[in-house]
Amino acid sequence: MPEMPEVEIIRRALAGQIIGKTVQSIDLRLPRLIKWPSAETFQQSVVGRTITSVERRGKYLIFHLDEELLLVVHLRMTGRLIYVMPGMPHDKYTRVIFTFTDDHALLYADTRTLGTLYLITPEELWRIGGLNAMGPEPLSPEFTGEYLQSIAANYRGTVKGLLLNQKAIGGLGNIYVDESLHLSGIHPSRSGNSLSGEEIDRLYTRINQVISEGIQHGGTTVRDYRNSNGQSGGHQHHLHVYGRKNQACLLCGCLIAKTEVAGRGTHYCPSCQPQGCKPVHT
Ligand SMILES: [Zn+2]
Repeated sequence: MPEMPEVEIIRRALAGQIIGKTVQSIDLRLPRLIKWPSAETFQQSVVGRTITSVERRGKYLIFHLDEELLLVVHLRMTGRLIYVMPGMPHDKYTRVIFTFTDDHALLYADTRTLGTLYLITPEELWRIGGLNAMGPEPLSPEFTGEYLQSIAANYRGTVKGLLLNQKAIGGLGNIYVDESLHLSGIHPSRSGNSLSGEEIDRLYTRINQVISEGIQHGGTTVRDYRNSNGQSGGHQHHLHVYGRKNQACLLCGCLIAKTEVAGRGTHYCPSCQPQGCKPVHT
């Protein structure tokens, strides 16, 4: 599932490819992916509109169209957005084709078809609960050490569950949460309110670091993620724990373990991330 860095990489590439283009036609091969309004209204409203900017919020992509319309896309597990020039082959899982007036096209492809598309006005953000109620995201001015402290202080559930909660922090998913906790020396099943001020500070720094490095490396490809040119990311070669079960921890040499926390497969180092508090490797 693409997380914040992967969606940001897609946004950056698409911004250079589709801003200023006008939609000439839409081929809706799987109308049920359109969650609002009806597929018919969606099609009628988007045709003729020009894309003015491409924004990202957490894992949502927001295409601003003229006449103050927002086309909002969530890729979920296996959604992909692919920009194609005339004559280029289309992904076999293509579900929606936006063809522009210059015959270039934006494909929405999705193997498991769990992705969602909406067309709303700026006043209708409430229609997309996950977007409307999203917490501050890493690297943003609103995401501060004090904020992380405030949400952890009263949280009795696991710190992993807290970090995955999009209402608490927008954009983090399983991979970057496991990586952040490992570099912070915090066991994923520790309760939020057990973390010391020092641990919160470390976690805050490491969350921003892993997200920033993920973007620098072009995102992480573990299954389906590709950028809008069909290229894989490179951050999977820099992961410390995710997907490394029974391999040596890059910090201490102990074997990485895998368990389940907050309902998700969770990778951690039993030595660097003990159940109790412990100083971390730097
Ligand atoms: Zn270790």
